[in-house]
Amino acid sequence: GLGGRINTVLQTCFFALSGVLPRDEAIRRIKAMITHSYAEKGAVVVAQNNAAVDQALAELHEVIIPAIATSVLERPPIVPATAPAFVKRVTAAIMAGHGDALPVSAMPVDGTFPLGTAAWEKRNIAEDVPIWETDLCIQCGQCSIACPHSVICARFFDVARLVDVPETFKTAPVNARGYPDTRFTLQFYVEDCTGCGLCVEVCPAHAVDDPNHRAINMAPKAPVLVSERANIAFFETLPVNDRALVDFADVRGVQFLEPLFEFSGACGGCGETPYLRLLSQLFGDRAQIANATGCSSIYGGSLPVTPWATDKAGRGPAWSNSLFEDNAEFGLGFRLAADMHLALAVRLLRDLAPSLGADLVEAAIAAPQIRESEIVAQRQRVAALRARVTALGDAPGARDLLSVLDHMVRRSIWLVGGDGWAYDIGFGGLDHVLASGRDVNVLVLDTEVYSNTGGQASKATPLGAVAKFAAAGKRTARKDLALQAIAYGNVYVAQVAMGANPQHTLLAMREAEAWPGPSLILAYSHCIAHGYDLRYGMKQQDLATASGYWPLFRFNPAMRRAGEAPFRLDSPRPSIPLKDYAYNELRYRSLAASRPEEAAALLAQAGTAVMEKYAQYEAL
Ligand code: SF4
Ligand code: SF4
Ligand code: SF4
Repeated sequence: GLGGRINTVLQTCFFALSGVLPRDEAIRRIKAMITHSYAEKGAVVVAQNNAAVDQALAELHEVIIPAIATSVLERPPIVPATAPAFVKRVTAAIMAGHGDALPVSAMPVDGTFPLGTAAWEKRNIAEDVPIWETDLCIQCGQCSIACPHSVICARFFDVARLVDVPETFKTAPVNARGYPDTRFTLQFYVEDCTGCGLCVEVCPAHAVDDPNHRAINMAPKAPVLVSERANIAFFETLPVNDRALVDFADVRGVQFLEPLFEFSGACGGCGETPYLRLLSQLFGDRAQIANATGCSSIYGGSLPVTPWATDKAGRGPAWSNSLFEDNAEFGLGFRLAADMHLALAVRLLRDLAPSLGADLVEAAIAAPQIRESEIVAQRQRVAALRARVTALGDAPGARDLLSVLDHMVRRSIWLVGGDGWAYDIGFGGLDHVLASGRDVNVLVLDTEVYSNTGGQASKATPLGAVAKFAAAGKRTARKDLALQAIAYGNVYVAQVAMGANPQHTLLAMREAEAWPGPSLILAYSHCIAHGYDLRYGMKQQDLATASGYWPLFRFNPAMRRAGEAPFRLDSPRPSIPLKDYAYNELRYRSLAASRPEEAAALLAQAGTAVMEKYAQYEAL
């Protein structure tokens, strides 16, 4: 009943063996603390912990260490021999707990660390992993977009590539007309899987006679580990799909975009990370990310590894972390710097236009850069210009132009953080940045609590939910940050929930990025702090929207310019009672257990608030 938690068991064993306190007294005190700590979570949680204490004592026995080890299992090296030199020399040493022994000279002199290093940290924490059934799969992309750890990678490729294929490597004919020689595959990086099961829950395809038998199903990892390593090695020989051939407008198409955020150490089933993976896929090396402190900065960039990665050419998103209180301003600085570099590039291009070709220069300056095809065309112009500028050698301005020429490809500036940053501590700065009118994109990974520090209430915490500093249930409704931003009129605002509608999330992220002013996306993110099995996280997001608690909408100032209504309420009217969503989560349910009358009153109040808020949005 305690899931993966081991603290109660280990604590019991420690005090039973150590003699720090008389055994009976220690156990009595442990049980008293269980009641004290978990009473608010309900009698079931208290009983589960007490049962864990009793069971731990019953099973506690001595393990005799044999004189000779007989196991044939061997501990693999910290990182494989194929890892880059820095990873072997520095990252692996830190992973092994020998970081203190590294000399200062081992550190990068400018403080920048290699990217994509999480890929070398094979944690192997899942006992069960998804197994793909090619004949049931409809190639919809739902599993790969939802996987919090970027474990699932899709690719299409020419059948002629299937040479020297491992016996267990699975493919299927690609599910599209006109491509008879093209195969589809889904590769699962099983050593990076957390076993959360979320992908199985979102898979819409199942056997005709058994709705519980999906196109992916969890099964023990041990029997497939060796063969999957071979499959992954083969998969990595397949060419990455050309971005120009991928349909960016569709979840099914987006699964083929290379993720540049992979294998993060977020909690199994985390609701934040799928949004970041999608961001990395859509905007790739054009993305510059200012990340506020919080969960996303911890799993995003804590030594020794980072999940932010590069493509084979060594290009990827630029990422940096700043504080809760100044991240919006930090990201605005990215925008201002990019604008200055662009202005310098344009001036130098015009100065050198007689040598570079006026037509090419003006085409590059005037180029539209919204759609991916336009970005691809601009990259080609910039490559042509680079060759011509390089040929100018030491001509005045040529070297300066080379240093800023890449800015002719539009930068995509993202300010990322949680609700603690956006609603609370960094709100003043965020408001300032939104009011600046500058082209920045704000992604709020909204877990409705301070997740990283243990679940304290923020201004995003909903009415009636229990959180730290709101032990009796929060008595006020969450702040409507979306409406505040909409009030500016020139800010693109979207409220999304990937589990409710991934296609809507995709649309909002692309629209926000395309809008040449400030954008704000509030992204519902399920979290362990909500108190339920995150295997059902995406389903719970769907219920949040179905209950009207988390309506999906977009406010797009571009629509107003086109003469249309800028506000679109994208989810239907509430179709289930709030209770059917809320009481799946311990943060709501625990109050019902400890203070049933207050909980009922708060739930009724919250239900009314939901309907009033929905009516307010409908009127927009
Ligand atoms: S079980 Fe979880 S981590 Fe593993 S592939 Fe599925 S969604 Fe990803
Ligand atoms: S969600 Fe299921 S049907 Fe869709 S691609 Fe994944 S395995 Fe196939
Ligand atoms: S605490 Fe919540 S938001 Fe943070 S990594 Fe875990 S699940 Fe994700």
